Amino acid sequence: MNAAAEAVERAARHLSDCHLCPHHCGGRRAEERNGVAQGVCRVGQQSYIASEMLHCGEEMLLQPAHAIFFSGCTARCTFCVAARFAFHPGYGVPVTAAQLAQRILQRQAEGARSVCFIGGDPAPHIPLIVATLAELGGRRQIPAVFNSNFYLTSAALDLLEGSIDLYLPDLKFGPAVGPASCGERLGGMPGYWEVVTQAIDCGLAQGKRVIVRHLLMPGHFECCTLPVLTWLASRPTVEVSLLTQYLAPARPRSAPTGALHIEELEAARQLAKHLRLVQ
Ligand code: SF4
Ligand SMILES: [Zn+2]
Repeated sequence: MNAAAEAVERAARHLSDCHLCPHHCGGRRAEERNGVAQGVCRVGQQSYIASEMLHCGEEMLLQPAHAIFFSGCTARCTFCVAARFAFHPGYGVPVTAAQLAQRILQRQAEGARSVCFIGGDPAPHIPLIVATLAELGGRRQIPAVFNSNFYLTSAALDLLEGSIDLYLPDLKFGPAVGPASCGERLGGMPGYWEVVTQAIDCGLAQGKRVIVRHLLMPGHFECCTLPVLTWLASRPTVEVSLLTQYLAPARPRSAPTGALHIEELEAARQLAKHLRLVQ
């Protein structure tokens, strides 16, 4: 068996015993109640796509990207703007690897400069992604991009190593731990900092290009932006994108309220410049 076929087989095991993210749902992924899988992300054995399109919202070098938005997510961000499909893993249309491969070839012929796997989060869909890229083989001429919250296990990163060309991780929350930490309270991801920074380091160690995105959130300069940018500055090969489009939800619950203040934006930009993260 060649390496790609072996990876497809290894990835498929997570459909019934899932350890792709630190929720480690194991066999619950294959358990269904009222047609809904019982893992934390509730993605079952069938992947659904909320939409796919030629998209110009990504970093310049990737545009236009063939953006593939999977339904379902391993996080539970209280301010999610994609909740319609991120929290509804059966939203959209079911796809197979053969169907997705055909659509990628079509978008490539239409001028896509990258194929970008997004969500929700693409982590639960790694079995489909690995199978799709294996199906495409040498017919794919554009880089494959994994755009994720990067709340990943080493098993997931091992599977991605042979398939993905470029990582686009989010590093949203700071290093505090415990139920009151931003990563756990706002993102629903226990152990957030340790897991995500280790995953980014692993991506760098794989020799991949890594462009980290940090979303500026109102009131989160000290707890999130400052430690995130400081940590990123200690990784000289990492590239950084600051995202400024935070949108407070209509019913904020524990989410940051209001809009980003101009002073917060300026402080983040100054810090990024001081740390030589951006020009
Ligand atoms: S990807 Fe989903 S099913 Fe798998 S471990 Fe994470 S939350 Fe559980
Ligand atoms: Zn914070």
